[in-house]
Amino acid sequence: MIQAKGYAAQNPGTDLTPWSFERRDVGAHDVQIDIAFCGVCHSDYHQIKNDWFPGIFPMVPGHEIVGRVSQVGGHVQKFKVGDLVGVGCMVDSCQVCTNCQADLEQYCLKGNTQTYNNLGRDGVPTYGGYSNNVVVREEFVLHVSDKLDLAGVAPLLCAGITTYSPLKHWKVGQGHKLAVLGLGGLGHMGVKWGVAFGAEVTVLSTSPEKAEAAKALGAHHFVVTKDEAQVKAVQGSFDFILDTVSAPHDLGMYLSLLNTDGVHIIVGASPKPMDLSAFSLLMGRKSVVGSSIGGIAETQEMLDFAAEHSIVSDIELIAIKDIEVAYERMLKGDVRYRFVIDTATI
Ligand code: NAP
Ligand code: ZN
Repeated sequence: MIQAKGYAAQNPGTDLTPWSFERRDVGAHDVQIDIAFCGVCHSDYHQIKNDWFPGIFPMVPGHEIVGRVSQVGGHVQKFKVGDLVGVGCMVDSCQVCTNCQADLEQYCLKGNTQTYNNLGRDGVPTYGGYSNNVVVREEFVLHVSDKLDLAGVAPLLCAGITTYSPLKHWKVGQGHKLAVLGLGGLGHMGVKWGVAFGAEVTVLSTSPEKAEAAKALGAHHFVVTKDEAQVKAVQGSFDFILDTVSAPHDLGMYLSLLNTDGVHIIVGASPKPMDLSAFSLLMGRKSVVGSSIGGIAETQEMLDFAAEHSIVSDIELIAIKDIEVAYERMLKGDVRYRFVIDTATI
């Protein structure tokens, strides 16, 4: 077994504390990675708090992982020691179902294996990237360009692909009016992709103080959703809304901002169900759809696109000892836009 050290919640809701644990030995098809940075996703917080479902504890969160390959198994083809790599939200899937065969491992019909808070196919709990190393089967490891700031790449592995994938799926681009709802880790990446794809991008935010920063990201317009007059001015105007909000919210109000045939894409994972009136969909033939992360091939495509267009996440680098303060600040929307842990501090 490989010795690992990380930060874990020992029980639901408890603060993260140092924890030593073991990872499996590097198998023939495995890659071992020395983790350099790991992003802090709102999903980490949801899961430590058992917001969604009862989790597996101790829990080492973290699914925005970048680092360098330190060992490879005998049959590994795509990676060698020293390569810069990333790992996102999944570390395994069945590889044979129709979805896996269609490069949609995130929708594996047997369920993919999540990077943490899940049991692997060997029945052993998975532990995430708030740690110094990780062992992952080759198919779930991504190549990372050395042209980009490595710490800024980490959030691309979840926040990046989760926003890139639905915009690609719905072919959002030139001639479209895209609204990004919620300007946090996911939302700011949604703005960057939307702008890069040529859409006219509006940020819908509860935080007036983010207006200048949103424009700096390339957003063309900024609407404060607590301001009735500003909301009224954009009624019926968007082709797409990319909804990244982490808590229950008024879907009907946002649907009224869509144009005829408009699509409301939910990627935020509210722990509680949200009301939806039939009339908010009927009037204007509107759709509400969802999307979960992205497949491995698409994640590699996104990382390559990011390298080509010099796109990374805007981050605030933290030491692991400050993780609880980071969570508190994230909940208040007080981060531009993603905390990333320097794992050298673990
Ligand atoms: P985050 O950084 O905390 O950003 C969420 C943003 O939503 C906040 O900054 C805030 O933006 C807005 N917001 C928060 N509470 C709100 C409320 N009650 N009403 C309206 N707006 C509110 O979180 P994140 O890391 O981007 O994650 C966002 C959500 O996506 C989480 O639920 C996470 O679990 C989920 N997620 C889903 C996937 C997937 O595969 N679908 C992947 C990763 C994460 P403003 O200040 O601009 O209003
Ligand atoms: Zn995430």
